[in-house]
Amino acid sequence: MGKSWRIATISGIPVLLHWTLGLFVLFIVWFAYQRSLDLTNLGYLVGFIICLFICIVLHEFGHSLTAKRFGVKTRDIILSPIGGLARLESIPDNPYQELKITINGPLVNLAIAGILAIVIGFFGLGFDPGFSDGIKIHSGNFVQSLMYMNISVFIFNLIPAFPMDGGRILRSLLSISIGRKRATFWASLIGKLFAIVFVLFAVLKGHFTLAFIGPFIYFMAGEEYQQVKLNEIMKSTSLAQIMSREYIRLNESDSVNEFLQYVDQTEVRNFLVQNDEDQITGSLPSIFVEELKKNSELYVQIKDIASPKFNFLEEDRSIDEAFRLMKDEGLAIIGIKKDGQITGVIDRPIISRFILEHSRTKFLS
Ligand SMILES: [Zn+2]
Repeated sequence: MGKSWRIATISGIPVLLHWTLGLFVLFIVWFAYQRSLDLTNLGYLVGFIICLFICIVLHEFGHSLTAKRFGVKTRDIILSPIGGLARLESIPDNPYQELKITINGPLVNLAIAGILAIVIGFFGLGFDPGFSDGIKIHSGNFVQSLMYMNISVFIFNLIPAFPMDGGRILRSLLSISIGRKRATFWASLIGKLFAIVFVLFAVLKGHFTLAFIGPFIYFMAGEEYQQVKLNEIMKSTSLAQIMSREYIRLNESDSVNEFLQYVDQTEVRNFLVQNDEDQITGSLPSIFVEELKKNSELYVQIKDIASPKFNFLEEDRSIDEAFRLMKDEGLAIIGIKKDGQITGVIDRPIISRFILEHSRTKFLS
């Protein structure tokens, strides 16, 4: 995603500004210069953009706070010139939950527009933003412009194409009857058709923003389907199918020097650590081994470097479960059991290889 700066943390969710917003500020300065705006007009324009971004943050919180109700955390909210993005840790499999999370974003903009309409009506401001003399924001059309922008954000987000909210809304509605994978296939196909229509329209009308957005939507539609397909494969493949049956048990009290001599003679890089009673007490992830080679004099025994983080899963559990467990507990390696016996291990490199092999499969299959 590139560099971003945290500007606030609201309800435990960091709000970040993406560096490209800096380019956006330069664009505003250029725009103001082109239109020979005076300082007052520039002030209104900047104020308007700030208000618009606040509305976008509220939109993202519409998603995030709904997600929170379903136990889904938001990693962060990123603001960039093309809008906001709430990065959720996961999307619920339950289509009704996905629908609520998604729709509550655009609904925030509709609610803001409604409130602004009441304000306009109450103070008798008139609904015409008066853009006949070019787009210029001033005290007379500030509230009206903000209302129309919120309506635009609402409508734009309902376009049924990924990555717009409309794409997710369509997917979750289809998921209810035909399942998530096929729903995503159709939603991403419809998204691609929209993208093609956008580009055709852009070429015919000379509309450059759409010409840029079209290929982006086309690409995102494909990515979304790939992602869901990968998730399905991860859920349906058992650990027994990809786990490594080769692993080595080390004793906590083994000396590091002996271990390093030994490690060069074996290809195996999965180490479980046990105590004198043969109980697993931790692990030695492969990255630790590399570290150990550089700074071996710092450590005397295996227990000085072993990670106490460790857990087990049964062989018939899915890769997806192992992946989540690693993420939740910060594990690098998981022991695999069958009938109470340790039969192998799975670590991050094995999962990464699996993801790599399956994330570039054909689109239509
Ligand atoms: Zn949204």
